[in-house]
Amino acid sequence: MTDCLFCRIVAGSIPSTIVHRDDHLVAFRDIDPNAPMHVLTIPTTPIATLNDLSSEDDALIGSMFRRAAAIATEHGYADRGYRTVFNTNRESGQTVFHVHLHLLAGRGLNWPPG
Ligand code: 5GP
Repeated sequence: MTDCLFCRIVAGSIPSTIVHRDDHLVAFRDIDPNAPMHVLTIPTTPIATLNDLSSEDDALIGSMFRRAAAIATEHGYADRGYRTVFNTNRESGQTVFHVHLHLLAGRGLNWPPG
């Protein structure tokens, strides 16, 4: 595994508040939350951006969305609503190049985003 920031979170060498872990995914609280609930769901194996996905990753990406929905549901946001976002590359604001699905919930979220 490469030595990226989120790989270190997967390995446990950087502490984080983990809300879910299985063989393929880790979900943890964002260190600088933008909503009352801000969770990042990542694959345990590093993929830099959505541009680097292959068809072999389809089930993995589907499981990331299903996990985010499950976490939102567990915390009572299924009916209120929540947002799931992948940022990709510079103009989107991607800063960590290990794909991560943002889950934001707990406040009104403007659309379109800034
Ligand atoms: P991006 O801007 O790449 O889409 O999102 C990266 C996210 O990772 C940001 O929301 C940022 O706050 C979060 N982040 C960066 N470093 C850490 C860290 O060390 N721990 C945690 N839990 N989140 C981090």
